[in-house]
Amino acid sequence: KLYNQLQDLKGNIRVYCRVRPLIGGHPNHYGTINNIDEESISLIIPSKNGKDGKKTFSFDRVFGPSVTQGEVFSDTQPLIRSVLDGYNVCIFAYGQTGSGKTHTMSGPNKLTEETLGVNYQIRNTSHNGINVPDANLVPVSSPSDVLNLMNLGQKNRAVSSTALNDRSSRSHSCLTVHVQGREFASGNSLRGCIHLVDLAGSERVDKSEVTGDRLKEAQHINKSLSALGDVIASLAQKQSHVPYRNSKLTQLLQDSLGGQAKTLMFVHISPEPEALGETISTLKFAERVS
Ligand code: ADP
Ligand code: MG
Repeated sequence: KLYNQLQDLKGNIRVYCRVRPLIGGHPNHYGTINNIDEESISLIIPSKNGKDGKKTFSFDRVFGPSVTQGEVFSDTQPLIRSVLDGYNVCIFAYGQTGSGKTHTMSGPNKLTEETLGVNYQIRNTSHNGINVPDANLVPVSSPSDVLNLMNLGQKNRAVSSTALNDRSSRSHSCLTVHVQGREFASGNSLRGCIHLVDLAGSERVDKSEVTGDRLKEAQHINKSLSALGDVIASLAQKQSHVPYRNSKLTQLLQDSLGGQAKTLMFVHISPEPEALGETISTLKFAERVS
């Protein structure tokens, strides 16, 4: 109830931010981020003239490095539960490779129920039609069915080596769960679905370091991420024209973006100094869509 009232006040788009721990570091160290609180983060943006500027970015919710999977899960639960009330929901994980997208969406490498990310606890789902050639629609009857499918999906993702990272995800992954149910009191049937979208790494590639197919791939990724940003930004600003047709991703998800559908853009930050440039562009992307 309270969530739905907030929903009415705030619209259907939320932007969250998660800063992962420094690799090998202490969870209370924020690396390049100067300050983190519940709804904002601030950092120093270096400038060429020596006058570095402090900038604060605001979000609906910020999760610092010490926040657990369980806390992230409980915060996203009302959104996920709304699928059972017949809403369509999209959760996107955005950020450079290594920033923690997959960790948030699915958990660490080997998925178990304890380590799972935001979709843990969806039960007894059922299926209906969606037109994606090559995508399989599989009925599931237990959380472990979902886990097995997710593990299979992970294995099928395109992964390639780039100069930037030796195992960087060069594809978007989308897990859609369709839920069909019947309301106890009225007997009305309800249909909702949730798309968990683990986006390809948002890093800009240095053209001198990748060539040929890899370069084309990188340009495709950048194009589809900016098309997604355009769609969410135009929904957030309640513009009359929403440019869904500019990418396959936004065409595929059109029914679940806008209208009554709920969207969570979950941006991820790597706190290492080498990542600062990407951190700033990730924060700018988040600013544009909120
Ligand atoms: P991405 O999917 O964005 O490329 P990953 O989710 O694979 O990034 O995360 C990169 C590494 O950092 C992984 O080893 C992962 O387990 C670890 N990691 C990411 N986020 C967290 C976190 N919040 N807490 C602890 N480890 C994390
Ligand atoms: Mg990943």
